[in-house]
Amino acid sequence: MILHNDPSFLIYFGDKKDRCVKSDLKTTKEYLLQLKENLKLKSLIFLNQVHRNFGLCLKDENQINGNLSLFEQNGDFLITNLRNVGIGVVTADCLPIVLYDPIKQVVCVIHAGWRGSVADIIDNAINEMEINFNVTAENLVAYIGACAGACCYEVGRNFTKNLENYNFAHELFIQKNGIFFNLTELNKRLLLNRGILLKNIHTQYNVCTICSSNFHSYRGDNKTDYRQATIVALK
Ligand SMILES: [Zn+2]
Repeated sequence: MILHNDPSFLIYFGDKKDRCVKSDLKTTKEYLLQLKENLKLKSLIFLNQVHRNFGLCLKDENQINGNLSLFEQNGDFLITNLRNVGIGVVTADCLPIVLYDPIKQVVCVIHAGWRGSVADIIDNAINEMEINFNVTAENLVAYIGACAGACCYEVGRNFTKNLENYNFAHELFIQKNGIFFNLTELNKRLLLNRGILLKNIHTQYNVCTICSSNFHSYRGDNKTDYRQATIVALK
């Protein structure tokens, strides 16, 4: 696990040691409750992820059910300005994206698989940040976590049709002994298109979940039920 510890916020980037199990909510909740204690968070919120393009904005403590609100509502991004409230996503090949606004002190976490990405989840999340907190995209700082990398993410020829509407589509695929997809590049392009500055997109935590043995990988581990968590919280 990596803890990105900023004076104003922290990001937990989990790995294979995480015990989040998609089919076993009890084990997952017990694990995340412990993680909440370890990170000294007041509350911890995860949504029931559905690979769509909507999410939830938490502005009021009353929106939070107890200290651990897990998988009770559908959605693939969370936004908050509440301090010590951890918001998280679980992934195993999809891309976790964290956004932070240092001016308005707002954080966001996004579960960005290709489906959510092409359905404009990044746009929708930033729209919500603008509407609710008057955030400006060019102030946002993005941190992207581990996901299936272009080194290993092989797709069929038909898959490329999902992205053919982007004018940068040809840059998302690498032709080797098959076609390989660059999920990171897709999301980086979408962040840039939405007004995030290149210097504010931090990629040092973006390693490949498939060929690194440190991560749960849906594709690499025979459709594993395990996920790693990404959590961001304002201090
Ligand atoms: Zn790889």
